Amino acid sequence: MISFGPVPSRRLGKSLGINNIPSGKVCSYSCVYCQVGLTKDYRTKQTELYKPNEIFVAVKKHLSLLKEKDMPDYLTFVSNGEPTLDLYLGDTIEKLKVLGIPIAVITNASLLFNSNVQDALCLADWVSVKVDSNDATIWELINRPDKSLDFERYRESVIDFSAKYTGKLMTETMLVSGINDSRNVVQQTAELLYQIQPDTAYLSIPIRPPALSTIKIPSETAMIEAHQILSEKNLQVEFLLGFEGTNTGYTGSILDDIVDICTVHPLREDTMMELLKKDNATPEILTSLIEQKYIKAVSYNSNTYYIRCFF
Ligand code: SF4
Repeated sequence: MISFGPVPSRRLGKSLGINNIPSGKVCSYSCVYCQVGLTKDYRTKQTELYKPNEIFVAVKKHLSLLKEKDMPDYLTFVSNGEPTLDLYLGDTIEKLKVLGIPIAVITNASLLFNSNVQDALCLADWVSVKVDSNDATIWELINRPDKSLDFERYRESVIDFSAKYTGKLMTETMLVSGINDSRNVVQQTAELLYQIQPDTAYLSIPIRPPALSTIKIPSETAMIEAHQILSEKNLQVEFLLGFEGTNTGYTGSILDDIVDICTVHPLREDTMMELLKKDNATPEILTSLIEQKYIKAVSYNSNTYYIRCFF
């Protein structure tokens, strides 16, 4: 399914997700902390995925199934991979605008050297760009980019985009213990964030099951220090540490709701139970989805999450 949710978002309120990647995960990165697993299909060139009208029709239909109280605050491109790999992203955003709901895109920013990508993102009301480091070696370690990508080109293009974008620009920096959470590394990252001048610089940590099980959350001290370093640069900085809440929207089709949400957004146990309750479904449905290998249960930080199985 193309759209899912709405899911509660820490930054966007109620966010109706749009997954514009029709297959399994496709990305230009394979971040160590990725919540949708390792990248098997690396890509850096935009290709035709869905036609803009297919996405428009799917989103319009999804909205028509929601109750008034579940209407989303944003339509958010948050894909099973990197949304800017979609050649028609700009056309799709233009088409969706008639629905009168602000449009957000969460991107890893690695393709901003492509003017078609920049033009598409300029049409969105809210854009979040990934900035995990300001050092080529650490970028390689944490984001594990496609071999054709170049750190300096990424750095320059994200600064270039930030200068021309007129919507709400956010950055997101994922702190991972032992990789990019030391004082020196965060100071370097802060230099790049300063040049970007985001409305808000978000600091997050891997609160959902990561692609590599060896990944660790930074210590509280490292997190507080990182917050301080960014604040000293006069950046508006916020942690993205809180749980989003369990108020997930539903369409009345519990199977579609669970599978579509789990494809890009691991569902914590309590959120899943809430969703089942809203759709008058029983926990047996979970057992059935797990047995059929649509989803799997993963333990992480004393919680159980449900995520989509792809392989
Ligand atoms: S976290 Fe985002 S950018 Fe990184 S591999 Fe996953 S989908 Fe790609």
